[in-house]
Amino acid sequence: MTAAVQKAPRFTTDDAARLAAEYFGLLATVEPLPSERDQNFLMYNDSGARFVFKIANADEALEVLDLQNKALKFLAGAQTGLQWPLVIPSRSGNDVVPVASPDGTAYFVRLFRWVDGVCLATIKPRAPELLESLGSGLARIAAALSHFVHPAARRTLYWDLRHAPMARVHIELLSAHQRELVEPIFAAWNELDWGALRSSTIHGDPNDYNILTDANGSRVVSVLDLGDMVHTATVCDLAIALAYIMLGERDPIAAAAHVVAAYHDIRALTLPEVEAVYTLAATRLAMSVCYAACQAACAPDNDYLNISNAAAWALLDKLSALPAGWPTDVFRRACAFPGPTSTDLLRSRRLHLGPSLSIAYQQPLHIIRGWKQCLYDSSGRAYLDCVNNVSHVGHCHPRVVHAAASQMALLNTNTRYLHENLSEYIERLTATLPASLSVVYLVSSGSEANELALRLARARTRRDGFIVVDMAYHGNTNALIDISPYKFNGPGGRGKPPHVQVVPIPWPGDTTAATYVAKAARESDNIAAFICESALSCAGQVILPPGYLKEAYSAVRAVGGVCIADEVQTGFGRAGSHFWMFETQRVIPDIVTLGKPIGNGHPLGAVITTPEIANTFANGMEYFNTFGGNPVSCAAGLAVLDVLRDEGLQENARDTGAYLLEAITALTERHSLIGEVRGQGLFLGFEVLHNPKMRSAGDTAADVVNRMKDLGVLLSTDGAYHNVIKIKPPMVFSRADADLLIESLDSVLE
Ligand code: PMP
Repeated sequence: MTAAVQKAPRFTTDDAARLAAEYFGLLATVEPLPSERDQNFLMYNDSGARFVFKIANADEALEVLDLQNKALKFLAGAQTGLQWPLVIPSRSGNDVVPVASPDGTAYFVRLFRWVDGVCLATIKPRAPELLESLGSGLARIAAALSHFVHPAARRTLYWDLRHAPMARVHIELLSAHQRELVEPIFAAWNELDWGALRSSTIHGDPNDYNILTDANGSRVVSVLDLGDMVHTATVCDLAIALAYIMLGERDPIAAAAHVVAAYHDIRALTLPEVEAVYTLAATRLAMSVCYAACQAACAPDNDYLNISNAAAWALLDKLSALPAGWPTDVFRRACAFPGPTSTDLLRSRRLHLGPSLSIAYQQPLHIIRGWKQCLYDSSGRAYLDCVNNVSHVGHCHPRVVHAAASQMALLNTNTRYLHENLSEYIERLTATLPASLSVVYLVSSGSEANELALRLARARTRRDGFIVVDMAYHGNTNALIDISPYKFNGPGGRGKPPHVQVVPIPWPGDTTAATYVAKAARESDNIAAFICESALSCAGQVILPPGYLKEAYSAVRAVGGVCIADEVQTGFGRAGSHFWMFETQRVIPDIVTLGKPIGNGHPLGAVITTPEIANTFANGMEYFNTFGGNPVSCAAGLAVLDVLRDEGLQENARDTGAYLLEAITALTERHSLIGEVRGQGLFLGFEVLHNPKMRSAGDTAADVVNRMKDLGVLLSTDGAYHNVIKIKPPMVFSRADADLLIESLDSVLE
């Protein structure tokens, strides 16, 4: 990521050897070193001592070389904990010697002792300790240089972050997409308040090629090349280092947060500095790609430039996908500007939260932001969310947020007033369903929806009994626990109540599964309804065998019962092929219940039924639901329908789902731990098998989920043996996300 073009003519190694001998009395073997502006040579003398011989460009002012030499001597005498190259004077006692180039122009040469170390750019992965030692090293340099003054530092340098507009002029050389990535960064730069930032002379270029570590790559030992020293905002050095540290990191902000926190520990950052550092780091990247575009226009064959430039663009792409303001939030927390710790949060939960509420993962996550298909924890780590089927169109989708928030600012009240949001929503919602399902009740959760569905069925049939599928879960109320084998047969459950009949899970390929429903219907004279998810979630992502619902519904209807499709988990396009999962079974239910994804996280649920059922329920008793159908909920629900349509998310579920299903199936060939792979659209799952050498299948699945979390991928388990890993991500899940999931799974199973 360099910009200046090397000035001709170049000195040969013979020229360098001759000059070193003549002016410094050094007889050495010479090798060229790469560099942006200077010409540098590595020299060895007979006793093995190593030196760097630097020939400064003809246009470099003598006073700038003096600035670098004085700064090196100053830093060597300060408490930085780092090594600095010793400046070796010439035979006549000068640190800088003017020479003539082969073509007769004046140059300046200098000689330094070599500093041993490994280039940070070559070390991957980088342990937190290494990143922390970079942060503390930079902080010590800043502390030392705050006492260093030199008139030449007050220069206009094109790399100085204060002069971003000098780089921005090259923006027209970029493609439209590239411009979209850098424009917002230059816009954020425009908003910086430079007066609020402390200033001093800075190193100016702590990029990963200038930083040396010890032989093990465990700690930073030196920061070379003071060629970009300049008087500017002190925090720019930290920002420049962050720009390069983030390159190629899977989790750039988390890596950067280690550097920021360690810096802050040694030399406290001010709040304005913390709030500026991310914009400054991004500005360095933006300047770098602009200068690279300019240089590429003159030197298109420069490979080094193209490679590092590609890494910068990849990082800019990645950073552009982050939620706005989030990196700064992370840095603020890394510096312990106010915010509770995970321990504080766990303690308050233990003291005050009902103990039957669970928390995910052995090491609980403290999630502070959500954006699209990702969640972000308080340390800055990003997680690919493969389980949240509530944030259906993506976490914090701006259209949903805006719709709900702006309605919230206008009016929120109940359905006893006329409101266009309510009318528009019930029209739009029923338009997605078969014509017979034309009457809507809006509620606040999936449980409320199913609870009401049971009441409708009882009102219609004047009976009390239900047929349910084994392992089903339909909600948290008394009546729903009674029809949820997942709960009444699970820990703390009281077993099956007499009015409920449980039929076996209809496994794929089982052509007789519906006969159990017919049998249950025949054996009772009290069946009000058969309630069934259109694909079974708690049972372990089971797709119903073809014709199952058709046969089951006709058996239930034959004895006067009604058919309820619980679409709480499966609805709104997740099936990919259809908007509603029941459509894949070619049936029309009498009652459909909706929840989870319907409001993208806003508490909303719905029951949709036929006019006949709704009319028998209207027996004089009002159905009132304080929150159900309020204008804010309806605004959120409408925005979800809009986004699903405008972003083609059902089609994405179909295509990405098929791609992912195939990729998981391919994994089974290499990993004997994977059993059956199931699902459709973005409603997928696979079994983890019992490994005789290890623990139970359920424990093994839990291990896989925990290890995947450590790799930044969130999954969960379900099924009778808790050994089915479920995949039901926000519908914006992409092929790249699927690849990451597969790659991580592959390495965990390995
Ligand atoms: N039905 C099904 C199939 C569910 O999965 C759930 C929730 N997991 C519910 C109903 C209940 O929804 P809620 O938690 O919103 O009350």
